[in-house]
Amino acid sequence: MKAPAGIIVVTVVLAVLSIGALGDTKVPAKVLFGKVKGPALAARSIGSYAKGCLAGAVALPVDGPAWQAMRLSRNRNWGTPQLVAFMEKFAADAKKKDGWPGLLVGDMSQPRGGPMLTGHASHQIGLDADIWLTPMPDRTLTAQEREDISAVTMVDKEKRRVDPKVWTDSRALLIRRAALEPGVARIFVNPAIKKALCREAGADRGWLTKVRPTWGHNYHFHIRLACPAGEAGCSDQDPPPGGDGCGADLAAWFTPEMLFPKPGKPRPPLTMAQLPTECHRVLEAP
Ligand SMILES: [Zn+2]
Repeated sequence: MKAPAGIIVVTVVLAVLSIGALGDTKVPAKVLFGKVKGPALAARSIGSYAKGCLAGAVALPVDGPAWQAMRLSRNRNWGTPQLVAFMEKFAADAKKKDGWPGLLVGDMSQPRGGPMLTGHASHQIGLDADIWLTPMPDRTLTAQEREDISAVTMVDKEKRRVDPKVWTDSRALLIRRAALEPGVARIFVNPAIKKALCREAGADRGWLTKVRPTWGHNYHFHIRLACPAGEAGCSDQDPPPGGDGCGADLAAWFTPEMLFPKPGKPRPPLTMAQLPTECHRVLEAP
């Protein structure tokens, strides 16, 4: 049976339009996810930390009893319900048990996760959060201050050690508390910070396993939660190698090439075609 020509034309036009809307392989996924203002569908982390998206995100309230979210214009205070609950509990515990005045919360995820227009390869599935190493002041910051205030780097110019004028035990305690929380898969810090933690930890070293050195992370540290239990579409990272990570793997970060890497060729941005197919649904949902 032959379909009337009109129907064929309409079908082809619709197909082309729908590919244009969601599957356009040329448009970087960060452009599409960066535009979405709110969450959609039921809560799930889809894909992996640096290649995925987030359904059913919850916003961390911008003010809490022991935290304030920063850079509100970025609209990145979103996460899985588990991450938001974690942040609230962690902020309260750090204040009550360690005397940390409160968290200044940096980037979490976008309302539907996915790649971001600026910064971060990860933070895509609602399980990553950056926390400033600057304590919260004893007053509510204005929205403008939350845009303008700079975090303070903990690392000196040579990048080989923390700056003793700014680094304190209280920061080590904060990172330790995060590493000890169940559900935390990894913490990322600058190698100079990891070195300070290794030196200061004493006999209590088990928590250092999860604290991993990486570039940057001298103004803030990065908490990564494991995938929520039972979510088949969420890919965990392999667990970190055992031990305190204070030996050869840390030393390898302090070569000139690692401390001051030559800028490489930028990687082409992720396209929708490279993300899990379900992320198309998340992006397109009303
Ligand atoms: Zn980070």
